Amino acid sequence: MTKQLRDTIFTCSACDAQYPKWEGRCRGCGKWGTVSELRITNYELRKDATEKAPPAELIEFKAIDATRFPRIETGIGEFDRVLGGGIVPGSLVLIGGAPGIGKSTLLLQALAKIKPPILYFSGEESASQIKSRAERLSLGSLPIQFAQETNIERVAATIDKVAPTLTIIDSIQTLKSEEVGSPAGSINQISVSCAKLMEAAKRGNHSIFIIGHITKSGVVAGPKTLEHLVDTVLYLEGDKNHFYRLLRSVKNRFGTTDEVGVFEMTDTGMDEVKNPSLAFMADFDASAPGTVTTVVMEGTRPFLVEIQALTSKTFFGYPKRA
Ligand SMILES: [Zn+2]
Repeated sequence: MTKQLRDTIFTCSACDAQYPKWEGRCRGCGKWGTVSELRITNYELRKDATEKAPPAELIEFKAIDATRFPRIETGIGEFDRVLGGGIVPGSLVLIGGAPGIGKSTLLLQALAKIKPPILYFSGEESASQIKSRAERLSLGSLPIQFAQETNIERVAATIDKVAPTLTIIDSIQTLKSEEVGSPAGSINQISVSCAKLMEAAKRGNHSIFIIGHITKSGVVAGPKTLEHLVDTVLYLEGDKNHFYRLLRSVKNRFGTTDEVGVFEMTDTGMDEVKNPSLAFMADFDASAPGTVTTVVMEGTRPFLVEIQALTSKTFFGYPKRA
């Protein structure tokens, strides 16, 4: 006996609220234009599936080997620390950020010490574009196997066949499944592709990094949905016109989420900033009016930050703060 469920719902890409019909403004988070259609295919209530299901296999709790997850270290201290001590084999990691902020640069640098085979799937840039970027970073001879492929079924089949230590997907917005009718970049395509990558990662214990672009309004297209589907979510933040970049983890199944990595964008790639306090304190002069130095904690690390205020002489008899 089967029962057809409603096959279309509308979800907000910013807060994941769901509606039976389209709304111009999300009533959950108040944002405009974030609600879009989510088509659910093949989701039927099948009673016979419940009746036929065999019981799950059980293992004795005391016999489980709880050795700590072995980690693959990239050698970039700031990167490994935000991940919780390196890459966990079989983990699916989303790295989000604005286009051009340096996500693929940072990932290319992180590949330098990873044992091959390494797979790189690009749906946006050609092999020669990525090669020339790697050459700028003096990483032109990295043992990467490259494919310009956007079909998720073929990507997953390649991962199964090659059994790579690490796979980079650049970017999730370009992937497309044959099983879903909607265009690449839609919420349906993104969640189906992500689910298939998760299966491939767990099936063969291969680690996969997914690059996800954030739009101007601050959402990765189809983003909150993605955050639920992966093990770890990192965001690379910063201003395109400034040199500093912050790598932050907002979800981590294998570590804490309050660590922050600091990088400086240079001509030769992302340099770790090991003493960010120096960077955040402009030429310190204790006697200058309007400046104060304070300490803030980010994760396990204290930062010295200088706060500056504009001060000027007052012509009144009493001081005034504005
Ligand atoms: Zn919303």
